[in-house]
Amino acid sequence: MDETATHRFSAQAKRSLQQRLLGWFASEARDLPWRNTRDLYSIWVSEIMLQQTQVATVIAYYERFLARFPHVCALAEADEHEVLRLWEGLGYYRRARQMHAAAQRVRSHHGGQFPTTFEEVLALPGIGRYTAGAILSIGRDERLPILEANTVRVLSRLTAYRGDPLSRQGQKFLWQTAEELLPEQHSGHFNQALMELGAMLCTPRSPSCLLCPVNTLCLTRKAGLQNEIPQAKKPQQFEAVTEAALVLRRADGCVLLRRRKANERWAGMWDFPRFPLSAPPGSKRNRQLREETLRLTGQSITRTAPFATIKHGVTRFRITLEVMAATVSQPQSATLPTDTEFAWLQPEEMPARALSTTGRKIAQMLRMPVP
Ligand code: SF4
Repeated sequence: MDETATHRFSAQAKRSLQQRLLGWFASEARDLPWRNTRDLYSIWVSEIMLQQTQVATVIAYYERFLARFPHVCALAEADEHEVLRLWEGLGYYRRARQMHAAAQRVRSHHGGQFPTTFEEVLALPGIGRYTAGAILSIGRDERLPILEANTVRVLSRLTAYRGDPLSRQGQKFLWQTAEELLPEQHSGHFNQALMELGAMLCTPRSPSCLLCPVNTLCLTRKAGLQNEIPQAKKPQQFEAVTEAALVLRRADGCVLLRRRKANERWAGMWDFPRFPLSAPPGSKRNRQLREETLRLTGQSITRTAPFATIKHGVTRFRITLEVMAATVSQPQSATLPTDTEFAWLQPEEMPARALSTTGRKIAQMLRMPVP
């Protein structure tokens, strides 16, 4: 078979595929909170939250978020910090900041009504072709295709596409296929059915072909190539890095937090002062800790003590976070850098702040009783 052979369905096969998928979705779809609404704003919130995040995780966040911001204007008027606090734990915080900016644009450019044309939706921050298509097909039954991780897999398998589905050629073919397969009506349900099939049956490993409603139309099943299609991604190369996070305490027990700047990872979130640690343990590391602390916070410290070690991953980085404790005997409020927000807080005050995931772990450790 040609590596990138591109299959087209006959009109009859297309009709059959549409009917079977729609019938299966009507009886088997999971009852998820965002499936009971046609409100574009609510669908948008769910779509953004579901990017890179499991359905089971999203449900509680979605319900909390909509309870606090039931309308796009409520989100537009909120303080960014509150939006981030509600998002805390979902990760990829850029999504939350972009949603906040998009809500403000909906308020200023569309009179507070979520736009209804593809171009207008696509122009909102953080919304690409997939999300715009999903919002408008699900909310308004617009005949717009979608392509995301699940549908890439399902469409690659249905058509036995053997090339790289993420290549330019692969994407072109799969978007075209997604568009061609769309029925004239019920496009929203059809798109959701494709995604549901990918999530529930046409899984990356060991797809449940026997239960699949479109198994007789699937070329990959016919060829027995479920393990080869879609083509595997290149394995991710991970990079190990070491960072330090400082628990800087004043004599009254308050600890210094720093708000991350717009150009930093987790922008807008509060965190313990943190920086890459390059020096090996010993006197060189102590010197680096003193110098970086002074640079980042304007505070002089003489000694640090290990507090905890946390291992975590961010994108391709595998981070070993050395949490160090230090006491600032003479806090220098005047020397705190003015281009950054700082706050001296008691550990009990930290739950109200939006913290990075590791920042939250450290904050919880600070509240644990000392054995
Ligand atoms: S038959 Fe199997 S491989 Fe083909 S779409 Fe269905 S679950 Fe996926």
